[in-house]
Amino acid sequence: MPNDAPAASRRLLLLAGTTEARQLAEALATTRSSPPIVVTVSFAGRTSKTTPMAGEIRVGGFGGIDGLIAFLRERHIDAVVDATHPFAAIMPFHAAAACISTNTPLLRLLRPAWDMTQRDRWVRVASLQLAARELRTLGSKHVLLTSGRQELAPFAALDDVEFTVRSIEPPDVSGFTHAEVVLERGPFTVESEITLLRQRSIDTIVTKDSGGSATIDKLEAARRLGIRVVIVDRPPSPDVATVSTVDEAVAWVLEHETPFEHGVAMRDISG
Ligand code: NAP
Repeated sequence: MPNDAPAASRRLLLLAGTTEARQLAEALATTRSSPPIVVTVSFAGRTSKTTPMAGEIRVGGFGGIDGLIAFLRERHIDAVVDATHPFAAIMPFHAAAACISTNTPLLRLLRPAWDMTQRDRWVRVASLQLAARELRTLGSKHVLLTSGRQELAPFAALDDVEFTVRSIEPPDVSGFTHAEVVLERGPFTVESEITLLRQRSIDTIVTKDSGGSATIDKLEAARRLGIRVVIVDRPPSPDVATVSTVDEAVAWVLEHETPFEHGVAMRDISG
């Protein structure tokens, strides 16, 4: 890909796939900075449609750590913001390794995990496999699965459970005995979630601890109806500078003088 960024610009690689990544790209596009910041937004390409974004878009993996190192060098990237999803288990480690290797500043933009309240009936588990096992232990009969269309396999063997599988794009539920698909993209409302839970007689929700507001209403709906939630904990994250809001990420990008200060920051600046 040609590198047509003006020589005096600063080049930022934004690892995307989240609402926060889109918001950060938009915020940087409307932020005046001298020299200008040229943002390359990178998607893995998991969904068939790429949401329109501010910035230059690239799609597809880099080819592991070595591929990312080559990309950072070829494109003269000055800094990286990793705004991948809390459940992206590999890319954050690749970003950390590549940024250490190329002495490129790295920030992770990671939304906070959800907090359990006293009114919640949550069971935290470490994996989707353990979530499926937990459903057996609990004796769940009508389950809302919101864990993502590509991660349904651990649940297919539960042939005495009626699943409602909610996802943005059609999932493959051919291995399930009882599964009804609901194709919907958040954000939802507490009221619409209560309606769905009642209509489908849901006794248990399975969700990953994605955090954020886009899909939180199901948790409030479950709270109000006294429904159990099996919640899958996040995978490990590399020990890199991390912030939790888009505003903090904008500030991090702007606080670096020209060129970006080099050296991967290993401290947590989320306060
Ligand atoms: P992952 O396990 O951390 O990454 C797997 C591989 O996908 C990486 O090694 C990399 O390939 C490529 N990749 C991931 N994010 C990329 C990006 N932003 N740009 C270019 N390549 C990327 O990630 P995942 O769980 O498969 O998620 C893939 C994407 O979907 C991420 O961008 C994530 O933000 C988004 N997403 C994930 C979830 C989830 O629950 N996992 C939910 C919503 C959105 P190479 O090694 O070839 O570079």
